[in-house]
Amino acid sequence: MPANFRAELVGCFGQPVAENPTGAMQEAAFQALGLNWRYLTVEVPAEQLRDAITGVRAFGMRGVNLTIPHKVAVLEHLDHIAPEAAIIGAVNTVRREGDCLIGENTDGKGFLRGLRQDAKVEPKGKHFVVLGAGGAARAIVTELALAGASDVLVVNRSIARGEEMVADLASKTKAPIRFQPWPSVYSVADDVDVLVNATSIGLYPDVDSMPAIDIRKARPGMLVCDAVFNPPETSLIRAAREHGLPVLDGLSMLVYQGVIGFELWTGQGAPEIVMKAALRRALGVG
Ligand code: NDP
Repeated sequence: MPANFRAELVGCFGQPVAENPTGAMQEAAFQALGLNWRYLTVEVPAEQLRDAITGVRAFGMRGVNLTIPHKVAVLEHLDHIAPEAAIIGAVNTVRREGDCLIGENTDGKGFLRGLRQDAKVEPKGKHFVVLGAGGAARAIVTELALAGASDVLVVNRSIARGEEMVADLASKTKAPIRFQPWPSVYSVADDVDVLVNATSIGLYPDVDSMPAIDIRKARPGMLVCDAVFNPPETSLIRAAREHGLPVLDGLSMLVYQGVIGFELWTGQGAPEIVMKAALRRALGVG
C-alpha cells in the first residue's frame, strides 16, 4: 500500500476556545482506533466565521464543532440543517456528506444518551423539570420532547425568555412543554421524575452558587442532573447526593455529545471509555 501522509481534519471554532476540552477526548479516540485524524481547536472571531467555513470546504475537513459565539450564526453558511437542530435553532456540530455541510446539534442528544446509558432512565412517559431557558436548556428540552417525555416544565428567571422558548418549542414539537417563572425558591413537587439544571449557576468560578430550589418534597429516587461540568461536582449535585438522590453530572452530557460527534464524522462506534478517561484527565478530575 502506498504511504498516506494526509490526515483527515475535524476541529472546533469558537472565541474564546482555548479551554474547550473536546479536542483531548477526540484525539484520544482517534489514537485508540488507529485513525489518522486530527482535531484542531481554532480561535475564530465572529466576523471571520464565513471565511472559516469556506476554509472547512477548501481543506476538505470532515466536520467541526461550533461553540460561543457561532452556534446560531453558522446556520446561514451550511447546506442543510438536521431537523432537531432546526427546531433548536442552533448547530454545535457540522458534518460533511459529499460536498455538503450539514448542521447538527448533539448537546441535547448527548444529554439523552447519558440519561439512558449512565443513569438508566428512559425519558418516554417521564415528568421533567428543566431549570433555565438558554442554549443548553433549548437543546435538552427539544430532545426530551421528541423522546416522548409526558411533561416538561421549564422554570426560568427571565419570564419573557422562558415563555418565548416554551411557546416556540411546544408549537414545533407538539409536546407537553410548560413554563413557570422562577419564584424566590422553587419547590420541587413529588411527581417529578428528573430535575435538570440547565442554567449556568454553579459554573466556575462561581462554584458555591446553587439554584434556588427546595428538594425536601422530592420523591425518593428523583434523578438530579446538572449541565454544568466545570466543576462536575456542583453544589446542586452535592446537595442531591446528601439528600440520598441519584445524580448525573455535566461530564456525562459533554462526553456523549463528543461520542455522537465522533460517530457522525467517522461512521464508526466511539471508544467511550477512552473518551471519558481523556476528558477527566483534561479537566483534572479524578
Ligand atoms: P445561556 O447563557 O444561554 O443561558 C443561561 C441560563 O442560566 C439562562 O436561562 C439564565 O436565566 C440562567 N441563569 C444564569 N444565572 C442565573 C441566576 N443567577 N439565577 C437564575 N438563572 C440564571 O447558557 P447555556 O445555556 O449555553 O449554558 C448553560 C450551562 O450549561 C453552562 O454552565 C454551560 O457550561 C453548560 N453546558 C454544558 C454542556 C455539556 O455538555 N455538559 C453543553 C452546553 C452547555 P435568564 O434567562 O433569566 O438570564
